Amino acid sequence: MNPAREEIHILEDDPLVAATVARALEDYGFATRWFRTAGELLAAVARQAPPLAIVDLGLPDRDGMEVVRELRQSADCGVLILTGRDVLSERVLGLELGADDYVVKPFEPRELVARIRSILRRRSQPAAAGKARRRACFEAWRYDPASLTLAAADGSEQILGAAEARLLLCFLEHPNRVLSREQLAANPDLSPLDRSIDVRVSRLRRRLDDDTQSPRLIKTVYGAGYVLTAGVRWEIA
Ligand code: CA
Repeated sequence: MNPAREEIHILEDDPLVAATVARALEDYGFATRWFRTAGELLAAVARQAPPLAIVDLGLPDRDGMEVVRELRQSADCGVLILTGRDVLSERVLGLELGADDYVVKPFEPRELVARIRSILRRRSQPAAAGKARRRACFEAWRYDPASLTLAAADGSEQILGAAEARLLLCFLEHPNRVLSREQLAANPDLSPLDRSIDVRVSRLRRRLDDDTQSPRLIKTVYGAGYVLTAGVRWEIA
């Protein structure tokens, strides 16, 4: 499969966002086609499935999750959710419905392209048929976002609470990048000014056996936020 020769479908009702996504992809050699409504996309996919569809969740005519489900049931194409909704329950639901990945706006073009390439690569391997469940490996830890389970090297497991899980996922998706409190608090029940972010980070450090006094894994960057200093590898669970 040569992804550069096939059109990646972009389902997005906001023309500015659609243009940004298309430009990012085209800069990296992908061809794209834009659909403003779910109805238009599903009609086109029924004629010919693209290698991958990028689906926004907030759409004028349908709920994006329904579109994900429908694509998964009826078409053989990769599905990436690209949304402003950074809510853990949505992320889990999207992945459970069979989306290959979930990226939150605003996105880093290079990261989006890397995720897309990774989906296309997985899908071009025959064993990758069906839904891929991802697991993050970092240092000696393994984390399964679908079950919120954090496993240690010795096999012991802990199930994270929703808020900690959200925070950990945020770090794992942006390793070695300083994340501001605003980014980490992108959640309706948390304010970036609130100390609860710090409390949650401390709790997460304890879960990860990180030294809360001089942390090694999740470091504090004074005046800026926090950074996960670890390489993260995603594998199919
Ligand atoms: Ca939208």
